[in-house]
Amino acid sequence: MNDCIFCKIVRGEIPSVKIYEDDLVFAFLDISPINFGHTLVIPKEHHQSASTIPEAVAGRMFHIGSRIGVALRRKCDYDAYNLHLADGAAAGQVVMHAHLHVVPRQAEDGFHWNWRQLKYPEGRMAEIAAGVSARLAADLGEES
Ligand code: 5GP
Ligand code: ZN
Repeated sequence: MNDCIFCKIVRGEIPSVKIYEDDLVFAFLDISPINFGHTLVIPKEHHQSASTIPEAVAGRMFHIGSRIGVALRRKCDYDAYNLHLADGAAAGQVVMHAHLHVVPRQAEDGFHWNWRQLKYPEGRMAEIAAGVSARLAADLGEES
């Protein structure tokens, strides 16, 4: 896409600090990192949503993201890493070219996900599972 900043980064029209590139994916340092080394792994082809990325490309993103996490741990003295993907504005996606965040972590790095833990009302869990699994089966059936 012509006016997408991540497509421009892939094409070299906007400078970036590259960590990795192959035929399917491109990985570069996030300009405003949670911790130094925070990396973004993107499909070279423009996809707004992770859900439309072909399986082989999505698999490569996850594989390379994990391997970058390990490299950050080994070379930059981190203890761990988070993989994070925001799909849609309400989920926090700001750049509308799908991207996987690789966030290197240390035990006392001062960053928290603020993860809440709700409780299901009686019956709601089964109701959601039935609805979502039926929808998923129909969607996957349409694709094959
Ligand atoms: P999102 O909130 O969409 O999941 O994350 C977008 C990420 O892209 C942010 O963490 C932001 O710092 C990063 N970002 C936005 N513009 C640029 C850019 O021009 N260059 C680089 N390297 N990172 C960017
Ligand atoms: Zn793009």
